[in-house]
Amino acid sequence: MGQPEHISSPANTADLSECHPSHQILFEPIQIGPVVAPNRFYQVPHASGMTEANPRVRAAFRETKAEGGWGVVSTGAVSIHPSSDDSPLPFARLWSEADIASHALTTEAIHRHGSLAAVELWHGGAVVMNRTSRLPPLSPSGISWAATHIGFMGQLRPKKMTGADIDDVLEWQRLATRRALDAGFDILYVYAGMGYLGYEFLLPEYNHRDDGYGGPLENRVRFVREMLEVTRDEAGDRAAVALRISLEELRGKPSEHYESEAHGVVSLLSNVPDLWDVKMDSSPNDCGASRFRPEGAHEPIIDFVKRVTDRPVVGVGRFTSPDTMVSQIRRGVLDLIGGARASIADPFLPNKVRQGRSDDIRECIGCNICIASWHDGVPVRCTQNATAGEEWRRGWHPERFTRTEKPASLLVIGGGPAGLEAAHVAAKQGFEVTIAERADDWGGRVLQESQLPGLATWRRVRDYRVWALSQMGNVSMFTNSELDAEAAISVGAEHIAVATGARWTRRLYSALEIAVDALDHPQVYTPEDVYSERLIGDRVLVFDYDNYYLGGVLAEHLAAQGRTVTYATPAGHASAWTFMTNELPFVYQALAHRGVDIHTTTNLIGFDGTRAAMQNLFNATPLEIDADSIVIVGHRESRDTVFEALVASKPSGGEQPCLHLIGDALAPGAIVHAVHSGHTFARGLVDEETIYLRDEPIVPAEPTRVFPR
Ligand code: ADP
Ligand code: SF4
Repeated sequence: MGQPEHISSPANTADLSECHPSHQILFEPIQIGPVVAPNRFYQVPHASGMTEANPRVRAAFRETKAEGGWGVVSTGAVSIHPSSDDSPLPFARLWSEADIASHALTTEAIHRHGSLAAVELWHGGAVVMNRTSRLPPLSPSGISWAATHIGFMGQLRPKKMTGADIDDVLEWQRLATRRALDAGFDILYVYAGMGYLGYEFLLPEYNHRDDGYGGPLENRVRFVREMLEVTRDEAGDRAAVALRISLEELRGKPSEHYESEAHGVVSLLSNVPDLWDVKMDSSPNDCGASRFRPEGAHEPIIDFVKRVTDRPVVGVGRFTSPDTMVSQIRRGVLDLIGGARASIADPFLPNKVRQGRSDDIRECIGCNICIASWHDGVPVRCTQNATAGEEWRRGWHPERFTRTEKPASLLVIGGGPAGLEAAHVAAKQGFEVTIAERADDWGGRVLQESQLPGLATWRRVRDYRVWALSQMGNVSMFTNSELDAEAAISVGAEHIAVATGARWTRRLYSALEIAVDALDHPQVYTPEDVYSERLIGDRVLVFDYDNYYLGGVLAEHLAAQGRTVTYATPAGHASAWTFMTNELPFVYQALAHRGVDIHTTTNLIGFDGTRAAMQNLFNATPLEIDADSIVIVGHRESRDTVFEALVASKPSGGEQPCLHLIGDALAPGAIVHAVHSGHTFARGLVDEETIYLRDEPIVPAEPTRVFPR
């Protein structure tokens, strides 16, 4: 299949003939030190879970964004030295010459499309635990970052840096700069954000030094200034130097000479970097989930920066609307529109804006599954974009699909995320698609869940696909159409994909942490009962061993209706897995706001209609609470009866339909899994879907020696 015209233009040869006039400002080039960004779309550094272990996966992931029109494409954090070792989290390195080749693969890929390549050189300071290198973490004053989350906890506390240590770090930044230049990067970062080393020097809580690097603000900025200077010194005019900085805490600190310490830091370093990349401090605030943080949430913290520096400023805010982006530039908040999640969900966002196809933007839903992938230690996954991370290993492209040579017919049963994704991808490949949904509207669980507190943005999973399907002539869509096996066979399709989802059960949870028999009582409910307003009673216990968002959201929802809600879970935290998606602190805030009582490490064992009997998971200490009803958010089981009936009733003789089971009906999971399942199935109609390539590191001939100094 030929490549469609609209995805072939390099970022720096933008044809604006189809671009809405009000959006054209987004395609004005801008000077950043010695280099020129071709437009205002800047993919800021973000974790991808891709390291030197999978250099081709990484290069293709970043290349797709350059191809989609992002004028600057950045790496995630690239460690400058073994004393910045974030293992077991995946992180990249420029520790020696041996690391250059794999980064060069990325820069070449980005340059092929006329975009600039930026590298986020990084020293983690006291935040990293150096679990592999076993070097003492470095910090200005020996103050540790004592995480309370199990995955981040560590026992090695940082050492207090001597003057010689500071000189060493400056030298490591110089050496990493040299390697980054050799790898072909155009923009080189100094990182002073999110608890990492540069930030620790800025913040008085971390920096208690009484030498020239501590005390007054002028001294506390010195380390960052020297990092910028050493980078500039090494780079000359071969590359721009960017400063990435967190300003939230500093903006809250009063200052003798400036409006705040944030104003002071930006004033003191004003024109030292070529570019300011400004952000928040903690990951939950910086990369806020849409459930708790709206688009553009950083603005009140970073809105002053452009007034204090002449240098260009880039910032983020989960921007997906070109109108909002234009407003940021016109109002003088930002010069470049930073995108991390927006660029993962739709790598072709800039090209779509340029071509006047904003309706076709696959907008990020702010679920933060991409961040959970990093916490999981795997290459990025995205709920909205099933091709993210699959560009190289499966050859999936977000906008290109192999046209089938045999345009067969496909019936999809179920219009949730899996069914809609399968129908969309199959239709793009040229199949004749019929999709039938039992309910009177599309979206399955997304339609229901997006009506709960904070989840409205998730409806984009449904909206994007329903809109895209409605644009295609080879798709027939039917709501209010519950199909059984007989009705499905009578459609006469050559392929039938069953995407009928999963149902929640009333199963309890054993002390062995296994779902066991259902709790049988008429006032015991499932989430579906809450959606259909069957739940009665003023005093509700939400018992959650699903541990993701839904138990917490339902507790919030029921409390917002004026009920007295108790939340109990066998896990150590409410909605424990939301630690992975940066939501955990805000879950607690939301539940406190609604007056929900929380019991953790607590198991439900019985219910008589007025009292719920619970006990501590570990020591069996009993706990009873008054409750009129219980909602169990625990075990889900596949709704696969239509599939089973189809398998059993396949007509003998004649043409038999190929049967496929996908999404939650195959294996219940998060929305990201359902979308990926639908996508994998549909690509598999044309390509060999189960085969993917295994990436390998680019290894030097001899093992590399890594010296602490
Ligand atoms: P997934 O996440 O796998 O897409 P969902 O539960 O979100 O699963 O969606 C499944 C959809 O299938 C729901 O909208 C449900 O109404 C629909 N559905 C279930 N059984 C049938 C059926 N027999 N015929 C048509 N639609 C069905
Ligand atoms: Fe956005 Fe969710 Fe995709 Fe991340 S995983 S880019 S938050 S849609």
